Amino acid sequence: MPTSGDRVEIDALALAQALIRRPSVTPKDAGALDMLEAVLKELGFVVHRLPFGDIENLYARLGDDGPHLCFAGHTDVVPVGEGWSTDPFAAEVKDGTLYGRGAADMKSAIAAFVAAAARNGKPPEKFKGAISLLITGDEEGVAVNGTVKVLEWLKARGEKINHCIVGEPTSSAHAGDTVKIGRRGSINFKLAVKGVQGHVGYPQKAKNPIPALAGLVSQLATHKLDKGSEHFDPSTLAFTSLDVGNDATNVIPGEARAAFNIRFNDKHTPDSLTNWVKDRAAIIAQESGCEITVTSQTSGVSFLTAPGKFTQLISDTIAGITGQSPFFSTSGGTSDARFIKDVCPVVELGLAGATMHKADECVPVAEIAALTDIYAAVLAAYFAKPPL
Ligand SMILES: [Zn+2]
Repeated sequence: MPTSGDRVEIDALALAQALIRRPSVTPKDAGALDMLEAVLKELGFVVHRLPFGDIENLYARLGDDGPHLCFAGHTDVVPVGEGWSTDPFAAEVKDGTLYGRGAADMKSAIAAFVAAAARNGKPPEKFKGAISLLITGDEEGVAVNGTVKVLEWLKARGEKINHCIVGEPTSSAHAGDTVKIGRRGSINFKLAVKGVQGHVGYPQKAKNPIPALAGLVSQLATHKLDKGSEHFDPSTLAFTSLDVGNDATNVIPGEARAAFNIRFNDKHTPDSLTNWVKDRAAIIAQESGCEITVTSQTSGVSFLTAPGKFTQLISDTIAGITGQSPFFSTSGGTSDARFIKDVCPVVELGLAGATMHKADECVPVAEIAALTDIYAAVLAAYFAKPPL
């Protein structure tokens, strides 16, 4: 690593390639965090390895004082799948584009942030405050032994984070064109309607669960949950399954099932939605005489980092680099920001994610450089005038 004064220069592309060459498909780490640890130690970070269950995690901090800006991300990647035209773990650059599993989601962003931190130099000479990286190996999986546990560990140590950037691939065409300031929540429901099985010729002696379920499905699917809120699109409800599993033409089945997912904004909570579904089900159960069971499982609550000093700093800094203010978005799936939001204001700022989780996942090398410049400028602006 070439050094100039107390700054160590990191080549973000080379680091991204080295990370991609560690095939860290959840829950495997494959040496990805070992490599990151070595690089961060070289930069003066104090590194803690935090294994929970079968998951490797890393927390690294540079600087003892506040304010404290944390970068959160993950080194785990989703399985390769099929249809690649290159080796997904070779990290080849072809025509100015880096290919590999994790190129977009999100090893290149980690590399960009490490390079930006290196450029920012060491405290207390170059800045006052602390930079940390919270990197988990359990984002693409069940997310039980990752960020949640590291945040608990930080809390137990009395370590306070003031602001956090999550490096998920949230941009749309170019790094920094979109910043996520919130995410919708996600909740899965299962409906089971129990009637009484019988002969189709004697329906009066049976209780058919299918019309009851169809009625409930229709009511739920056509209901408008809301019209959206100040920062969010309208909530959506999508059925994913409708099952009877009955091949007999002369039998009224005893049970019918359905499943659906709701992506909800800040106008709802998991409880309010569950109560709504249960109320609708109770009415249909009474009308039909069938027994209806509703079960739900929340996979993430919605969150919003209300626009303020921190989001303004991010926006102004990006505009200074790219010439355009980012679009603040709250769309898309869930991320570990759903856990971090309980600790401090959090935004998601990373590469464009068009190829994430797909075959031939890739990112233009110029985009990695652009994101490095953005992260470096955010660090400089943050410590020059902390948004506290
Ligand atoms: Zn990701």
